[in-house]
Amino acid sequence: MSEIWIEKNNIKFVSFQTFDKGGSVLHGTTSRLGGVSPPPYNELNLGVFSDDKKENVNKNIEIFTQELDIDRKRFIFSRQIHKDQITAVYKEHLDRNRAEDFFIDQNDALVTNVKGIMLAVFSADCPSVSVFDPVRNAIGIAHAGWKGTVLKIAIQMLHKMKLEYGTRPVDCLAAIGPSIKQCCYEISENVVIHIRSVIPYWQDFTEYDSEKKKWKLSLQDANFRQLISAGVKESSIVWSKYCTCCDTDDFFSFRKEGITGRQVAFIMLK
Ligand SMILES: [Zn+2]
Repeated sequence: MSEIWIEKNNIKFVSFQTFDKGGSVLHGTTSRLGGVSPPPYNELNLGVFSDDKKENVNKNIEIFTQELDIDRKRFIFSRQIHKDQITAVYKEHLDRNRAEDFFIDQNDALVTNVKGIMLAVFSADCPSVSVFDPVRNAIGIAHAGWKGTVLKIAIQMLHKMKLEYGTRPVDCLAAIGPSIKQCCYEISENVVIHIRSVIPYWQDFTEYDSEKKKWKLSLQDANFRQLISAGVKESSIVWSKYCTCCDTDDFFSFRKEGITGRQVAFIMLK
């Protein structure tokens, strides 16, 4: 899978070597190590909308953007609401912005073809789906928890990229970031009802525990199949080996920890 840790002084992030096509994109998912937040948000909590102290999150964003040598005003994120709104970010957005931080309200995916804009998704278990179109030089990133997956946000993001940039899914590379995996992702019957109503082959990535009367779901598989159904080549999709819920030394996990911080999955055209 070519998934590697990249360290920048005190912080580190996981990234896929196969995804960056000769250094055209910077992408990855941060680990929780290296920031200033105390427990339960320790340490590098980048969750702007979490209940951590604003000054801590602010400092963490400063650390993250400085280590990656990004202008903070070009670090763009959303107030995510588990829906399927997707926003294309243009240079004009940046020019108009006067605030310290730049975010799109009530939005769960971002796309752009502007170089030097870092698109980010917050998560503490939910998969991120990143897409890079090396032909049209466009990128996108989506927050794909179970609700976003049911709304087929990854497929919709590819449609948006087609409309905006002429992207063809067959040209695209895709990456599914560190997130809660089937080993830990227990769901109830009423979630499964939604999954099977919209996603074919749902039996292949759900299993039923008859003792607990609970289901287990692989959101990574569900998104993988959606990307393929949209036309992305199977060989062009990679996904993280990390389960956030199993590996809370490195990642935040809402399922495991309840009150906790947020990592970011990010992508930027260089
Ligand atoms: Zn797990």
